[in-house]
Amino acid sequence: MRDRVNIDTDILIIGGGTAGCLAAWEARQVGGPDLKITILERANIRHSGSLAAGQNALNAYINNGTPEDWVAYVRYDLCGAPVREDILLSVGRELNETVAIIEKEGLPIKKDVDGRYLARGKWNIEVNGRFLKPITAGMAEKAGARIINWVFVTELLKKDGRCVGAVGFGSRDGRFYVVRAKAVLMATGGAAGIWRPRCSGDAHHRIWSVPFNTGAGYAMMKRAGAEMTGFDTRMIPVRVKDTYAPGGTMAIGANAPMVNALGEVFMLEKEEYVRMGGHTAPTPVRVWACYREIAAGRGPIFMDTTKGDPEKVAGLREQYLDMSPTTVLYWGAHDIDPAKDPVEIEGDSPFLVGAHAACCGAWSISTTRMTTVPGLFASGEALGQAPSRFISGSWTCGRIAGRNMVKWVEESGSGLPEIDAKEIDRLEEAAFAPLARWGKQEFYTNGKPVMGILPKDMEEHMQNVMEDYCGGRVRHFSVSEPYLGIARKRINRLRRDQLRYLVARDLYELQQAWDVIDRLDCCQLTIEHISFRKETRYLGYVNRTDYPERNDAEYDCFICSAWNPDTDEMTFKKYPYDQLVRGDRSEETI
Ligand SMILES: Cc1cc2nc3c(=O)[nH]c(=O)nc-3n(C[C@H](O)[C@H](O)[C@H](O)COP(=O)(O)OP(=O)(O)OC[C@H]3O[C@@H](n4cnc5c(N)ncnc54)[C@H](O)[C@@H]3O)c2cc1C
Repeated sequence: MRDRVNIDTDILIIGGGTAGCLAAWEARQVGGPDLKITILERANIRHSGSLAAGQNALNAYINNGTPEDWVAYVRYDLCGAPVREDILLSVGRELNETVAIIEKEGLPIKKDVDGRYLARGKWNIEVNGRFLKPITAGMAEKAGARIINWVFVTELLKKDGRCVGAVGFGSRDGRFYVVRAKAVLMATGGAAGIWRPRCSGDAHHRIWSVPFNTGAGYAMMKRAGAEMTGFDTRMIPVRVKDTYAPGGTMAIGANAPMVNALGEVFMLEKEEYVRMGGHTAPTPVRVWACYREIAAGRGPIFMDTTKGDPEKVAGLREQYLDMSPTTVLYWGAHDIDPAKDPVEIEGDSPFLVGAHAACCGAWSISTTRMTTVPGLFASGEALGQAPSRFISGSWTCGRIAGRNMVKWVEESGSGLPEIDAKEIDRLEEAAFAPLARWGKQEFYTNGKPVMGILPKDMEEHMQNVMEDYCGGRVRHFSVSEPYLGIARKRINRLRRDQLRYLVARDLYELQQAWDVIDRLDCCQLTIEHISFRKETRYLGYVNRTDYPERNDAEYDCFICSAWNPDTDEMTFKKYPYDQLVRGDRSEETI
């Protein structure tokens, strides 16, 4: 048996990112000094997760209007699709308060001459992004949470149907961590690296999202029996080509229009796009329009900074240095001057996210953020069907979950259960299995012995399958049942037959092995959800060539799946959409 670390806590937070750190902070505010709060983080909370690279705007802030107006915008931006308005309203009501708290904690926020936060569009404010992560992490530290860095969480613990903790391995100390908890928060971010990245070789991690957010939370919640939702949306970020920096900085920040290779401001000049909302069309539609222009031979697509506001264009370098310094280096290396040259943009691979512009995650039974597994909560990208929360919404969701976890602990009154020792042994064996296998199995391919399948080889195979058969970039994000059928067959072959050959030579590769195990579960969720939704609702994100129209009669509702561990099949159910903010969903209110 390995060295084991046993921890008992009231609140366990998995993932010390945007949502996780603020959940710890809020739990301390309402739970008092004696509450035991523990964070398990696969990296180090000071520089982990989405905020680590620095970002330059809070994309959710109510500059004008009301929380209801913000909800109307969010659902409009997802093509009028059903969204959890109850959850979004709960976020909207606390968004600005959360930002004020973070400012008090030291985040410098740019202000206008009247002392108001500097607005960037209707729902954005500019911030100095490099401070985001240290401040967020500092709040968890200040809250006195027990922070255990470098622990990769592999599975949730359950007892009598309730979530009672989690297990994982120390990626530096090689120890096995067993944490019993009265309430557990999943805050592990979204899933990157499911589809084939554009760059190859040692640059394969050069992608838009955090390469280390690999869908662990989605996979663990699925395996623990939580109902999962929204995997039929994926986010396709259109970003500055090769550097993945956001184009919004040029569009909203410097008034640069998006143009095709002919210089046409196509979103405003072509009737078919104007009808869909022009340059303020829903995000997926704008992605679709770019790829339509490319398919029609009018690519590449650019942000025409030469037509932007000259003063603001001059400030672009400084802004990108704050959040995506490679952009500035790239411009230097390729002799690009945004004042003289339009900046090329392109779509990256799809990503699974629930707090950005898509809906993947766990279904929450109420606004408490508790999933269908009692005691298991989800926030940030891990929470489904409430998109466009971004940084400030994830902070807020973390706070709301933290508060409700304390309430759950107080009200449910249950202590820490005994966990069957054999179950813990089984989980330990599973956690380290790829490491244990190394050296014990030998196969011959082309006459040469191999010791098993290394994680990076399995990852590459998985990404090829998803790219080619589940609507990757090379397919212009299009899918149909025949393609999905092949994806299903090949991914299931990996999951059901090949994982037993997955090996790792050291703890570093053990993390990569778990990344691929978790990603494969995300693949299953994605293939089955896309297959279930026999319509095209999010044009641009998922284009079903066999069902190109929207089918409101069948699919204007929420779709949730549950995984059956005995059959490895997913079953689906639908929940009705509760529209709390009245009005035409295909329009914004302000
Ligand atoms: C490149 C990029 C740019 C963005 N730009 C903006 C912007 O300008 N403005 C804006 O408002 N929003 C932006 N967003 C969105 C915003 O950053 C996210 O929606 C939000 O931060 C997500 O918070 P989270 O807590 O869910 O995830 P994260 O903050 O990413 O936290 C997840 C944490 O879980 C940890 N973890 C993962 N797996 C495990 C495991 N198995 N065990 C233990 N720990 C684990 C990770 O290491 C990480 O620390 C951007 C996102 C990205 C990726």
